[in-house]
Amino acid sequence: MTEIRNNWTREEIKAIFDMPIMELMYKAATVHREYNDPTEVQVCTLLSVKTGGCPEDCAYCPQAARYHTEVKVHKLLPVQEVIQKAAEAKSAGSTRFCMGAAWREVRDNKDFDKVLDMVKGVNNMGMEVCCTLGMLSEEQAQKLKDAGLYAYNHNLDTSEEHYNEIITTRNYDDRLGTLDNVRKADISVCSGGIIGLGENLDDRVGMLHTLATLPSHPESVPVNALVPVEGTPLEDQERVSVWEMVRMIATARIIMPKAMVRLSAGRVRMNTEEQALCFMAGANSIFAGDKLLTTPNPEVDMDKQLFQTLNLKPRKAFKGQEIEA
Ligand code: SF4
Repeated sequence: MTEIRNNWTREEIKAIFDMPIMELMYKAATVHREYNDPTEVQVCTLLSVKTGGCPEDCAYCPQAARYHTEVKVHKLLPVQEVIQKAAEAKSAGSTRFCMGAAWREVRDNKDFDKVLDMVKGVNNMGMEVCCTLGMLSEEQAQKLKDAGLYAYNHNLDTSEEHYNEIITTRNYDDRLGTLDNVRKADISVCSGGIIGLGENLDDRVGMLHTLATLPSHPESVPVNALVPVEGTPLEDQERVSVWEMVRMIATARIIMPKAMVRLSAGRVRMNTEEQALCFMAGANSIFAGDKLLTTPNPEVDMDKQLFQTLNLKPRKAFKGQEIEA
């Protein structure tokens, strides 16, 4: 059995990352089978519960108030509407429901109370409920936990060295601090990043190194390819190739064998063959629904076809936990 390690060196990760692609995929597929059922893929739904108007300056994000994009700004959705969307997602096969709000950080106000009600409602439906709400204090994390939150998403986005090129309104330590608060509240951690932000290969290795040397690995690691949006500073970035995604996914799989590795943004541009390569490299989760917060994602029907063609089964909620959906 491959050992779970938190003491990876950057050099070791770089050596894996640089392997010939077939060797890398073979190794990742081998490790994947030790800890996961390779015929299973989890289907998650992501809903933007508060869109746009964000004070942060993340260079890839159409929701930042300072960029002129076509995103339709809306304030926090009513609780009932969110619960309804979660029910629809569940009946379409999703077992995890993630709610995103374009906030810099959580504030202790009425909107947060409403999010807590959303969490309670979705949790009662037997879905894994996840939130991504920006920075979080230890007390706020505990409140979310008490409401039934299963996971919290907070991406590192890129390496510590490249971070300042992408975001200047907060720093890497703020990010790590929130992840720590989430952990302390015993909430499952979802944290990954985006490739195609103008970073170099060492930055990709650096981000994976930070994730794999956290005191415990994130239970979930989203790997995103930038979807450039007009009006953002990164609108003209070149598209990343499927091989770059495969390399990231396979390396993440090898160094964090138990994590759910999520093939996230950028999937809309991949055909079935390319997505199959990512699953072969160890990805075992996707987002369903025609939107990923604000950028396009494959239609539910296309995903049904994908599962049929590849003969994959959707993973049950809370697998490996006491509760069954
Ligand atoms: S990524 Fe999140 S924090 Fe950054 S601008 Fe977009 S909504 Fe705000």
